[in-house]
Amino acid sequence: MIYDVCVIGGGPAGMFSAFYSASRRMNTVLIEGNHELGGRLNLFLNYEIYDIPGQFGILAQNYKKALIEQLKVSKANVFLGEIVEEIEKIDELFYVTTSKQTILAKTVIAATGNGFSEVKRIEHAHISEKIQYDPPAFKQYDGPIAVIGHTPMAADWAIQLMGYGNAVTLYTDQELNLQSILMDGLANNNIPVYDFADFNDRAYVAVFCHIGSKKRTIDFKGRIKQRDNGLTSFCGYFVAGDARYEQGKLKLIQGATHDAMQAVNAAFQYIHEGANYQPIVSTHDPIFKEWVKEAY
Ligand SMILES: Cc1cc2nc3c(=O)[nH]c(=O)nc-3n(C[C@H](O)[C@H](O)[C@H](O)COP(=O)(O)OP(=O)(O)OC[C@H]3O[C@@H](n4cnc5c(N)ncnc54)[C@H](O)[C@@H]3O)c2cc1C
Repeated sequence: MIYDVCVIGGGPAGMFSAFYSASRRMNTVLIEGNHELGGRLNLFLNYEIYDIPGQFGILAQNYKKALIEQLKVSKANVFLGEIVEEIEKIDELFYVTTSKQTILAKTVIAATGNGFSEVKRIEHAHISEKIQYDPPAFKQYDGPIAVIGHTPMAADWAIQLMGYGNAVTLYTDQELNLQSILMDGLANNNIPVYDFADFNDRAYVAVFCHIGSKKRTIDFKGRIKQRDNGLTSFCGYFVAGDARYEQGKLKLIQGATHDAMQAVNAAFQYIHEGANYQPIVSTHDPIFKEWVKEAY
């Protein structure tokens, strides 16, 4: 079974992401590490919340209940008590490994909060799609290629590959400090050098990696760069709720649910290239009436 969307985290952002994703007719699964949904709402269940539009003074436990009911109506799959430990992307597919199983999905929405919950946030993900750790075949490729690494070998590969008529970009996670012959070689061949945080695997037909002593996995810890609107430098991987950290981000419930819609719509567009970012408004979308009919 391959899901369209795998939502990680069952707080307000995750629950609403899963509901909204199913409403966009995407096959959806939500994974929550704790044994119950709610996220940080569980920390203040008996408190009244006053800053959710139209819900003045709602008890956190009632708000949680309402989100769960809404999620249930959508029939998105939910797995509780499973901590996501690793995410791997191979050939355009995400392998999301929890303490119990590996789930396959075309996209991932990380709604993992900002670390206050008991469950730890995902610390790293690694990709192996298109990436080779062995020396490249020195030939012309049928599209742009990337080399990752800060080592002399990485720079040498980039220069040599350029010599075969390739469009090469070099990505490094630290400042380049190489012999002048290599620095000149990069400059003379106009090889762009970018921060690894900006690496976008979809832009290249092949990627060659020379990362010195680190073997076989690229540690994305702290390197999945968040962009505006819940997008990240890791194609197909989106962020919603308190897990988002761009400037001006409000770590509140209302923001979390807004983020959820943005992430879902971006995932929809990622899967269906050229599709509308905005779906039809809910008042006109027949799926909601069908769900209401089935549920009540
Ligand atoms: C005491 C208190 C009072 C608050 N009062 C208000 C208020 O009045 N108004 C307001 O708008 N906001 C309030 N907030 C903030 C609000 O609770 C958060 O903004 C909101 O919960 C964020 O939702 P979220 O879904 O992004 O993250 P969370 O609610 O933190 O949910 C994240 C979920 O992801 C799960 N998770 C994390 N990592 C993994 C993993 N690796 N695998 C599986 N699951 C994982 C966690 O277990 C958690 O359930 C308050 C917060 C606190 C603590």
